[in-house]
Amino acid sequence: MAIRTDIFDLGGLRLSSGEGRRLDLAVVINAFELAGERYGVEPSPIETRLDISRTTGDGYALRVRFTASVVGPCMRCLADARPEFEVDAREVSQPGAGEELESPYVDGGQLDLRGWTRDALALVLPAQILCRPDCVGLCPVCGVNLAEAGPEHAHEREPDPRWAKLSELRLDP
Ligand SMILES: [Zn+2]
Ligand SMILES: [Zn+2]
Repeated sequence: MAIRTDIFDLGGLRLSSGEGRRLDLAVVINAFELAGERYGVEPSPIETRLDISRTTGDGYALRVRFTASVVGPCMRCLADARPEFEVDAREVSQPGAGEELESPYVDGGQLDLRGWTRDALALVLPAQILCRPDCVGLCPVCGVNLAEAGPEHAHEREPDPRWAKLSELRLDP
């Protein structure tokens, strides 16, 4: 079992320029609040693989990879959803080399692994969390789960009174 880590001390590795290290670290990712519902992140903690390369000066090139499930109600049918996501994120921290090379997750040789992994997961989440990619959702008329009701589920179409009125209109030839 990997060691649970929130903040990782990059400087403590004492890598020299060009050296690298691969570590497996466990991290807890806080639940997300999406569309007013709570979506937990599992497993907790999550095993992550962290690749660290020391660049020049106090710089680091970082890569983190992990697989996480987001658990909560399907946004179409409200059944339990737990889609799984692969995350592969990179960061470069090169202090003094300009804003683009400053990572918001590295400060004084300390890596905010917990903050980074949560943001990296948030970036790969789709607009809708679904129980399955082809979830057909609920019937807009009666609210039944369409996946359970089957493809023959249908309602008699009541003609819209506005259209009925229009069809009474006759244009003179
Ligand atoms: Zn669904
Ligand atoms: Zn219906």
